Formats: sequence, C-alpha cells, structure tokens
Amino acid sequence: MSALHRQDGDLHLESVRLADVARRFGTPCYVYSRAAIEASWRAFDEALAGTDHLVCYAVKANSNLAVLGVLAALGSGFDIVSGGELARVLAAGGRADRVIFSGVGKGEAEMRAALAAGIRCFNVESEPELERLDAVAGALGVRAPVSLRVNPDVDARTHPYISTGLKGNKFGIAHDRALAAYELAARLPNLEVTGVDCHIGSQILETAPLEEALERVLDLAAAVAARGIPLRHVDVGGGLGIRYREEEQAPDIRRWCETLARRVAGTGYGLVLEPGRAIVGNAGVLLATVEYLKLDKGKRFAIVDASMSELIRPALYEAWHDIVPLAAAAREEAEYDVVGPVCESSDVLGTARRLALAPGDGLAILSAGAYGMVMSSNYNSRPRPCEVMVDGARAVGVRARESVDSLFAGERTLD
Ligand SMILES: *Cc1c(COP(=O)(O)O)cnc(C)c1O
Repeated sequence: MSALHRQDGDLHLESVRLADVARRFGTPCYVYSRAAIEASWRAFDEALAGTDHLVCYAVKANSNLAVLGVLAALGSGFDIVSGGELARVLAAGGRADRVIFSGVGKGEAEMRAALAAGIRCFNVESEPELERLDAVAGALGVRAPVSLRVNPDVDARTHPYISTGLKGNKFGIAHDRALAAYELAARLPNLEVTGVDCHIGSQILETAPLEEALERVLDLAAAVAARGIPLRHVDVGGGLGIRYREEEQAPDIRRWCETLARRVAGTGYGLVLEPGRAIVGNAGVLLATVEYLKLDKGKRFAIVDASMSELIRPALYEAWHDIVPLAAAAREEAEYDVVGPVCESSDVLGTARRLALAPGDGLAILSAGAYGMVMSSNYNSRPRPCEVMVDGARAVGVRARESVDSLFAGERTLD
C-alpha cells in the first residue's frame, strides 16, 4: 500500500497517524487515502493519454460519496450496476454523460432514471433486456445507447466466486449468440448500438486471460461491423488484481494500459475501462482494536472489534489481508488467529499471524479499500462502521458510524 508508512514506529496513512484516527473516530473504522486513489486512477488515465479512452471507476468496489467525489474531480467516468449507484454518482458531482450502466437485472425504473439523466451507455446482458430497454426508451421518446456485454468464454484464473467470463455463467451474452443479438439491437428503433463490452472476473493477477478476452471481443466487433453495424468503442471491463500480500505479484497498471493502447491503435475504437479494485483496494485500511487474547488448547485467538460484518472477504473467499499493529510494541510475538465477535466460525480476519499483542492495541487490516464497506452488513445487529478520508495531514469523517437505534428504526412489534 503506497500511502502507508511507519514513522517512529507509528503507522501513518499519508501524513496522518492512524492511532490518532482510531482514538478520534473509534473502531472499527475504514480509512481511505485520497492521494492513493488519485494516483491509481491517474496511472490508468495517463498511460492512455494518446488513445481515445474513458476510465469508468466501478462504483461497486467502494461507493462512499467522498471516494466518488475525488474521482469526479479528476474527470473520471463511472461504471454503475444499480439506480442507487447512479444516484450516488450524481450526488457526488459525477457527470451522467460519463456513466455506463452494467448488470444483468436492470429494472424499468432504473432504466428510466438512467435515460433521464442522460448516461453514456447501457451494457446490455441479454436479448430480453434489449427489448425492455427499447420499450422504456420509446416511452420516454429517446434513443438508448447500448453496448452488448459478451461472454468471451475465457478462464480468468481467479477465485470461482469472482470469475464471470466462462460459459454457464449468468453474465453476458454467449459469444456464439452475440451476432444475432447485435442484429436484434440494430433493428430495435429506440436503441443506438455503440459498442461491445466484456468483463471476465475480478482480482486477475495475470493479464493473459484479459488479452485473450480482448482478442475475442475485437474479432466480434469486426464481424458485427461486417454486418453493417459499426461500433465506436470497446469496453474491456475491470478485474485487474492488486497485491494483497508480499508474495503476490499484481499486474502493473501502466504496462497493462500500454498493452491495450497498442492493441487498439489503428482500429478506430475508443477504449472504455471499468477498474474498481485496482483504484481503491490498496487505498484503504480497516482499523480495529484488540478486545481479548484467548488461549485454547495451545491455539491463540486475538478477538478484535472488527468482524465479517465489516469485512467479509476473508470469510467469503478465504481472502488474505495483511494485519499490522498501529504502534510498534516491545513485546513478545506469538501466532494468532485474528477473529471477530460474530457468532460464526467463519468470522476470521486472518489466520496464523505473528503479532505482538495486548488487549487495547490498535490494528490495521490492510488493502481493505475495495469490497470492504460496500459488502458490510448489520449481521448480529452490528452498526456499520464509520469511514474517514485522509488528505495530506487532515482526516475527514466521510460517513458517520451507524447508531443502534437506526438499525431497527423501520421495524415494529405486533399490536
Ligand atoms: C465488478 C465489476 C467491475 C470491477 O471489477 P474490479 O475487479 O473491481 O476491477 C467492472 N465491471 C463489471 C461489469 C463488474 O461487474
């Protein structure tokens, strides 16, 4: 994590001491670095400077308004998957004409809202969705710009839960049906076919499958053009992985973008990208405090105040997050399973971690900027944590911690 460093033993994000953030805002607490978010977005944008392109940040990775606002100020586009995400983008100052709308199950109200806002493109994932969008656009008296998300049948070689480009997956239109789907789209009067899209999965650590998918999509675009339907842009989706642990090697953003730029040079297609994790993943941490140290049959547990309710990735994907102390302590190290208070055996944040701990110590769970807060829940009636953005030497609360009262404010008992 680039904006993270130690100074006199204390962990800092940019110029802010994280122990101070924990004290001021309490734990558990998500903290994001503005500089780190900007640096990774710019890595995409600058490497594509010579190419017609739009970097559309995938909002689902982290949809806090402050994150979206920082990106909107850079001129980012946004990839959304719901009407809720559209509302967030607009509330954060994002431009509707830089929004693309992905997802397999767009509702009519979501389509209407996106058409009324004037988004750039709908990534359509099925024939019935084409027909619904045509009808909704017709009723509003507008034409909907569409790109078809095709399933290139490429193995992203990532965790099966986050692999989306294989046959038999719910996402996209099968490659062998794509031409017919384009012909249908071209016939429908209220649609304007503008591009082609694919997204084969997430946390992809080698670019070969991404390149293979791009080749298939470019072949398809040529075949579509040969049927008299010229396309203007190719959307390569997101999925670029990040480094969660030392031993891991993640693709370099600039090098990947240079590969893309070389491949589309001379084709006339504009490039659209939908990176989520690669922009925010390593720009955020989750702060926690050690509640108890528990010894059980020779196994040591560090029970902390963060859990799978705040960060579900370890429980859901057996994902690894580095866990480090906020302050260096002159204590003996031991091996701990770092676990939360939630009543599930899967409520683990990290297993077999060598740490020097005492109750009350602060910890940072690293690389938690993507798919952290957005996947949090109120399981066990736990209020969602607060979120803080660091900007140089200041730490700004960008979402308040939920109150317990708010958790059941919409509920009632029977008379
Ligand atoms: C999730 C998703 C993304 C972003 O994926 P990352 O792995 O976070 O880059 C982009 N496009 C679509 C369609 C998605 O579903």
